[in-house]
Amino acid sequence: MHRPGRVSPSGAPSGTMPAVTIRDLEPVLSAAPIGGPRASAMAAGLVGSEILKIAADIRAKAAAGAKICNLTVGDFSPAQFRIPPALERAVVKAVEAGETNYPPSTGLPELRQAVVDLYERSFGMRFPVASVLVAGGARPCIYGAYRAVVDPGDAVVYPVPSWNNNHYCHMVGARGVEVACDRRDHFLPTKDALLEHLPSARMVCINSPLNPSGTAISEEALGGIAEAVVTENRRRARCGERPVYLLYDQIYWMLTFGDTRHTTPVELVPEVAPFTIFVDGISKAFAATGLRVGWAVGPTDVIGRMAAILGHVGAWAPRPEQRAAVALLRESAAVEAHLETFRPQVKARLDALHAGFQAMKGRGLPVDTLAPMGAIYLSVNIAPFGQVTPAGARLATNEDVRAYLLEEAGVGIVPFQAFGVAEDSGWFRLSVGAVGRSDIEAALPRIEAALSALA
Ligand code: PMP
Repeated sequence: MHRPGRVSPSGAPSGTMPAVTIRDLEPVLSAAPIGGPRASAMAAGLVGSEILKIAADIRAKAAAGAKICNLTVGDFSPAQFRIPPALERAVVKAVEAGETNYPPSTGLPELRQAVVDLYERSFGMRFPVASVLVAGGARPCIYGAYRAVVDPGDAVVYPVPSWNNNHYCHMVGARGVEVACDRRDHFLPTKDALLEHLPSARMVCINSPLNPSGTAISEEALGGIAEAVVTENRRRARCGERPVYLLYDQIYWMLTFGDTRHTTPVELVPEVAPFTIFVDGISKAFAATGLRVGWAVGPTDVIGRMAAILGHVGAWAPRPEQRAAVALLRESAAVEAHLETFRPQVKARLDALHAGFQAMKGRGLPVDTLAPMGAIYLSVNIAPFGQVTPAGARLATNEDVRAYLLEEAGVGIVPFQAFGVAEDSGWFRLSVGAVGRSDIEAALPRIEAALSALA
């Protein structure tokens, strides 16, 4: 048996410790595995993010010297968007003050209270503190919600396009029921679209403003869905059946534009509160995707089960970031001041793309857009299907169009296929978090030239 020697923490042999013998484990680790598959069936079957694959494609082009206008990432470039100064200072201060031990696994009580206060002043809903669970971003909150209420084989209903519900269903062994939404409804679900699936559903997932479309659900649609959930659960209560839950992901709620007003199911139908799990956080509204603070708000029994699950995963938000989030969220003036500059900067980028594509449409090119309503995304339809590139290739699919525009125009975009849409209908998500106005102004003529070059 190989017994490794000891080394000092610096890596150098210490006075009392023998020098370590290095053993290269690469040959052992890469030896042919014994027996059958090594991963669980779940892990083996989990597909990676399609967007990350596209991002790798873009990185390769950029590394080869190409200048790419990257409209793919659902993230912010700090060169374009900084976190609010109050948040930045408070993280540093908290580290310096020694806030470096474990936080309570449900989140700092002050942060849970700050979320309660935020929801009270923003939505007129007063939750008990026990309704709030803090975690390392919105993702663990979504995962925790799936884990806490969905059993293997249960049906989870979600609209497409939408973000990652297919992957969460896979991880918990749920039966995903996809409901196709189209542009007439801004790619968001209506009560009628969901109604037939409600009797068999354990959870319905809605996200507004929506990633990928940058559109928001109407009060009428959301209120109708909330009422239908209440009605269904009254029926189930009479038969002693477990309820259906509504997962409401409102991570982009502070980013709405123009006349669009963000709304929540509980404001519209308070009786749906015992069945609604909100998902939210600082990632998007404060350009703070790397700080990892999210929260779920919901019925205290479900939130308690989610806390138990995520406590074992260790998915809590870092303590300094939680302290900083308290400092920020308590200061409604600081939040408002940030949004007053941040929101118009996001909107200006989306408007520039929207106007640019509408102008191309006016000049007869096969493109269209939906007016931006929220989030950091624009829905763009680019459908030159059947046309032939200067290199002689016929464009037949969204993927063909994506690859052509990356190659010919140096523009990276994401097909709606990455959000569960099956058909090649020409819809793409354009994200503005990593680009400036000048990048957009430079990219639009390149897109137009590439589309005009098709025959
Ligand atoms: N929900 C939606 C709709 C999102 O788009 C994202 C990020 N892409 C998340 C949740 C995850 O947010 P976080 O970074 O806080 O985990």
